[in-house]
Amino acid sequence: MNWITNFVRPKVNALFARRDTPENLWTKCPECGTMLFHRELTKALMVCTNCDHHMAISPRDRAASLFDGGTYVEVPVPAPIEDPLRFRDQKPYPARLKEARRATGQHEAMLVAEGEIGRTPIVAAIQDFSFMAGSMGMYVGNAIVAAAERAVERKAPLVLFSAAGGARMQEGILSLMQMPRTTVAVQMLKEAGLPYVVVLTHPTTGGVTASYAMLGDVQIAEPNALICFAGPRVIEQTIREKLPEGFQRAEYLLDHGMLDRVTHRKDLREELIVITRMLTGQPPAIMAELPPPAEPAPLVETPAGGEGAEPAPGPDEDGTPPAKAAE
Ligand SMILES: [Zn+2]
Repeated sequence: MNWITNFVRPKVNALFARRDTPENLWTKCPECGTMLFHRELTKALMVCTNCDHHMAISPRDRAASLFDGGTYVEVPVPAPIEDPLRFRDQKPYPARLKEARRATGQHEAMLVAEGEIGRTPIVAAIQDFSFMAGSMGMYVGNAIVAAAERAVERKAPLVLFSAAGGARMQEGILSLMQMPRTTVAVQMLKEAGLPYVVVLTHPTTGGVTASYAMLGDVQIAEPNALICFAGPRVIEQTIREKLPEGFQRAEYLLDHGMLDRVTHRKDLREELIVITRMLTGQPPAIMAELPPPAEPAPLVETPAGGEGAEPAPGPDEDGTPPAKAAE
């Protein structure tokens, strides 16, 4: 703790780290293999500019692109008991949670926020696939209940963005109990006469598809999102038949009446403004007069000085989690 460790070392590290960052400034599209510059990619809301593949977007970036002026207030979510089963596979469950928190900078797999879209107050619940595959545990259950309660309190529509690999196995039966629990939360909205809009993003699977993600008054999906209970590989192995092209993808489900809309991410905000206004009995908005959302922030953050906590290793370590999150 002296001048050298606090000041000189971070600066020197930052100097050398610059050389490493160019690797992190590019992301390879998992669909078409195009190398995409981060600034372009964040500007395009994490949609490949070459093939339109919709990559995962963090809940905070999603919220910023959704709300007027990118401003919103987080709704507090009651913390559940952590690791009630003392679950352990290769690693104890608390260690997995800790790792996910470090890698994503999120506390858990769902963010609840309130703000305005097109001057209509709404509550949004946004699931984060990069946090333990967006798995639904007690926290996610609590988040949805908190979101529904806040929506009822404010008489506002609830917009939910789903992304999940299913229930969180580390919480066993307690995670499965979130299916009826969240269903009751959705019912609360319906009884209060409030709209519930679901935006299904890639991928939404398992117990999430079997509960709150399929109960919307309007069901929207992002292009080519995989939406299913059991995945195509499992079905193929069970029925021993080749599945049709695009099976369980958003467009296929739209054709077969499971969805109302498939909407490109760049058009989502406008579409949600139209839908929420319509469902709350307001006149159509004049889009040009509405406050715009936030400009997407660049992915590589410039360290705003401060703490002397070695800003240099940050970008290096941060380079790994997005790669993991892509799978
Ligand atoms: Zn692409």
